[in-house]
Amino acid sequence: MHEIGNWIIDVETRAFDPSQRMKEFFGYYIDEVMSLENSLECVTEEYREKTKEAIEKAFLKGESYNIEYPVIGLHDKTFRWLRDQAKFYPAKEGKPAHYSGTVLDITERKEFEQRKDDFISIASHELKTPVSSLKAALQLMDRIKNKPAPEMMIRLIDQANKSMDKISGLIEELLNVSRMNEGELKLNKTTFTLAHMMQQCCNHIREDGIHKLIFSGNENLQVHADENRVDQVVVNLVNNAVKYAPGCSDIHLSVEKENSMALVKVRDCGPGIAKEKLQHLFDRYYRVDHGSHHQSGLGLGLYISSEIIKRHNGQIGVKSEVGEGTTFWFTLPL
Ligand code: ADP
Repeated sequence: MHEIGNWIIDVETRAFDPSQRMKEFFGYYIDEVMSLENSLECVTEEYREKTKEAIEKAFLKGESYNIEYPVIGLHDKTFRWLRDQAKFYPAKEGKPAHYSGTVLDITERKEFEQRKDDFISIASHELKTPVSSLKAALQLMDRIKNKPAPEMMIRLIDQANKSMDKISGLIEELLNVSRMNEGELKLNKTTFTLAHMMQQCCNHIREDGIHKLIFSGNENLQVHADENRVDQVVVNLVNNAVKYAPGCSDIHLSVEKENSMALVKVRDCGPGIAKEKLQHLFDRYYRVDHGSHHQSGLGLGLYISSEIIKRHNGQIGVKSEVGEGTTFWFTLPL
């Protein structure tokens, strides 16, 4: 079957001849009659009048057009974004004036654009909070600079530092993604002991006094990998456990040998993740909406983690059930 749908319309008689693919785009059966009017009825309500007007206007003036609109298929009720490009051919050598058009399914591109737009607004919003807090701290320091009260100063410097760390972290995450998109993530491999790395990483969480990181498994297993990047993956998984499993104080880390791979697990006893969400977790910009328990984040952490593991020829995955906690795991070649 062709990827592109085609159609022809006689400007005078309005006789409309859509290809089979074109009918499928509008959710019609391939042997069913579909008029131009029928097809436009499938355009979603929000876009229907605008689309009809644009096409009528072009027809009246005998102009070619190129428009995009969303439809809901007549029988299959499937939502699709279509790009409809039509060229006008004036009457010539006995052939009547007509339009010849091509229609393309652009749903995937549109959805990606939408996610990207959402992402830009989330990213700006996420950056705005620490920037405002940093600005407030600096303004206060400026106001008291001639009569500094040491305690106040210490508090403000602390606030400024925390905001700055938040900002650097977000920028680092954004840079990581752009490097990955350009295929520029270089790995600096050495041989190191996984257990050793995992007992060193995440000190910021060990020190918070709220969470316990419990290590188990093979203490001696070594891998040949980029230690900083693998560390980054573990830190990200542990940070997520802290963030998304707030009532769970014990976070379990483990290392096992499985065939020729090292298997690392990070397990929490939090609320878990709904089955239908699991497959999207490692997608770029994907975030689960936690309703009233909003957590800040860019939806990039797991995407970056999965890219790092894939570049090492390892695998990454998740096992979770609502109410049963979540286990993220990844493997690395030994
Ligand atoms: P971010 O944390 O910036 O949203 P991530 O890519 O790290 O981005 O995570 C994507 C989504 O996966 C999060 O929005 C969150 O809903 C979900 N998630 C990640 N880790 C856990 C976990 N341990 N328990 C429950 N949900 C999680």
